[in-house]
Amino acid sequence: MENDTIVALATPEGEGGLAVVRLSGPQAVAMAGQVFESRRFGPEMESHRAVYGILFSSNKEKETSYPVDQVLALPLLGPNSYTGEDTVEFFCHGGRMAARMVVAACRKVGARPAGPGEFTRRAFLNGRISLDQAEAVADLIHAESEASARGAIRQLLGGLDDQLSAIENPLLELLSRIEGSLEFVEEEEVGVPADEVIDTLKKACAKVGELLAMAPAGRLLRDGIHVVLAGPPNVGKSSLFNALLEEDRAIVDDEAGTTRDVISARLVRDGTMFVFHDTAGLRDDPGRVEKMGIDRTWKKVNEADLVLLLSDSNKPGPNPGESYEAPIIHVTTKADLDNFNKDNVLSVSSTTGQGLPELWAALDLAVRGFRLQEAVAMGVVLNERHLHKLATCRSDLEILIHELESTEPGDEVTGTMLLSILSQLGEVSGRIFTEQLLESVFQRFCVGK
Ligand code: GDP
Repeated sequence: MENDTIVALATPEGEGGLAVVRLSGPQAVAMAGQVFESRRFGPEMESHRAVYGILFSSNKEKETSYPVDQVLALPLLGPNSYTGEDTVEFFCHGGRMAARMVVAACRKVGARPAGPGEFTRRAFLNGRISLDQAEAVADLIHAESEASARGAIRQLLGGLDDQLSAIENPLLELLSRIEGSLEFVEEEEVGVPADEVIDTLKKACAKVGELLAMAPAGRLLRDGIHVVLAGPPNVGKSSLFNALLEEDRAIVDDEAGTTRDVISARLVRDGTMFVFHDTAGLRDDPGRVEKMGIDRTWKKVNEADLVLLLSDSNKPGPNPGESYEAPIIHVTTKADLDNFNKDNVLSVSSTTGQGLPELWAALDLAVRGFRLQEAVAMGVVLNERHLHKLATCRSDLEILIHELESTEPGDEVTGTMLLSILSQLGEVSGRIFTEQLLESVFQRFCVGK
């Protein structure tokens, strides 16, 4: 039910300076008035102006009621609130009890506890934000690096929506002209010239392609750049892993085959999140347990965004395995013991730190190829859902262009296909949505948002 009044703690549970309880819905002001006592809270009050008062455990008129906290109440009258509905936010003392008692007081006068993301869901349903903006809110909350947060805020400010409108508007105009011409079939030359239709579709297809090119960046911003350290046993993977992370995380040992499982650690560097994976050494004659580790290594290598393929500067030999899907950075280790002194090879020493700045420079260069900064600047942080819809949209556009170029499908067929393409685009922004779609989007949210 969307027309009841909901309440939830909007800040994390636990000790802190302040906690915020949010009450939203048609009865928000009336319910707040029942539990909150202040000279300045009532019909005369101004929206967006906080007032001080005492909050009671239930209807303040009742004898059984007792004060639970001193709070500031901030009335945010619809439609100018986050949800678009009348909202009252209570700023109470932090800690577990005060905020919990404020929530309980609101429930006693009829508010329902909000579900995950329900405030944002209402903001979407009331037309305050698009669905991709709602997803950007979740991305911002879950962001673990500055780049990810900056991309999310730009998308929230309308980055992706602007790009989608630039694709949708010419297609909508085309559709209305095609539909218009269908009504005047008797008259001659009212149809849209095929060349013009094809041109508009090709431009739209190119723009969808540009957005799709941003898809890997969206994933990397959200999940981090997965860098796998691979190479033979004892080459110095764990040592380099520790040196890159500047901490002793993985066990370093002389005995070959120490790292049997994959060890992972996150590192945010210059605002970008990396996830490094130290793996079991790759070799051809492993024992049974070691083989399990090697299988896991190959799995990680195949899922990696970047592979650091290590070889020992003192024991040159062929690289294990043949094919790698991710870009590879070749690194020779133990440069402090290097007897070979090869040119054009990234040579590092985890012991002395020699070559580490060059390795970071090589990593940064490889990361630049992922176009993260471009995605952040555009505010286009695509997720799987956007990717799926946009990919379908592009292939439908390609099919329609092909049809128009090879046969004459007729305005009616063109119009129908165009409508279906526009629905795919509409699902990205949420202009078109189903209950199932909303459920899958809002389940990622926390309660209170
Ligand atoms: P892994 O099996 O590939 O993870 O290799 P480790 O990191 O466990 O290192 C194997 C051995 O090489 C250990 O004895 C390390 O101390 C040594 N080692 C690793 N990196 C360096 C280095 O840069 N210089 C020197 N001299 N020894 C290193």
